[in-house]
Amino acid sequence: MATKCGFNQAAWNPRCHVVLHASSTTYEATVGAAGRTTFASALVKRTHGGIASRQIDVRSDVDDFLTAALPHELCHVLLADYSPELPLWCDEGLALQFDSIEKQQLHDRDLRSSLLSGRALPLESLLTLRQYPAAEDWPAFYGQSASVVRCLLQLGGPEKLLQFAELQQSRGVDAALRELYGLRNAGHLAESWHDSLRGSSATPLQLAFSPPISPQAELEPGSFFDLAKAR
Ligand SMILES: [Zn+2]
Repeated sequence: MATKCGFNQAAWNPRCHVVLHASSTTYEATVGAAGRTTFASALVKRTHGGIASRQIDVRSDVDDFLTAALPHELCHVLLADYSPELPLWCDEGLALQFDSIEKQQLHDRDLRSSLLSGRALPLESLLTLRQYPAAEDWPAFYGQSASVVRCLLQLGGPEKLLQFAELQQSRGVDAALRELYGLRNAGHLAESWHDSLRGSSATPLQLAFSPPISPQAELEPGSFFDLAKAR
């Protein structure tokens, strides 16, 4: 998973506790009321020198928790090792690449409807977002983050994506795009991104550890959100 994200990972110490909850009752008691609409949550606590604890809470009364929720949350825990301040779009967007293909397609649908309705953020605003948006903007935020990350992965692979996510914070979006991708500015990236939304390149990347897709599966809107950074 770390390799797919573009970096090398040493063994975790402390280990990551994965808590399987048999029902929503103990899950909500652990993650809090804000987690009521989620199925999984990751929490990394830091000390001065490094990471004090890693924990993932997962509802195991959901059919696909091993292949859907767990990989997504593991990605958040992993990325916390890479950088304590990865921008939200990159942290969430990369984790979403490990969602099942059918969930990724739902995010893509959310993205397209948010672009049509005008709820999608301007690209530069997304890249510099510091807090999760209000709940009504989650579909746009998740859909857009997944899509922009996919576009950048296609432009330069995972190592460059992580370099960009860090460099944009110190040097600004435009300078980081010029240096790493040879793009003029955020507007130029927006052009490439919109191009990537046309045709087959909008197909989700196969990073997910997915079982075969069952086309009949129906997922409730909002069932794929987590609280990686909200706790
Ligand atoms: Zn997440």
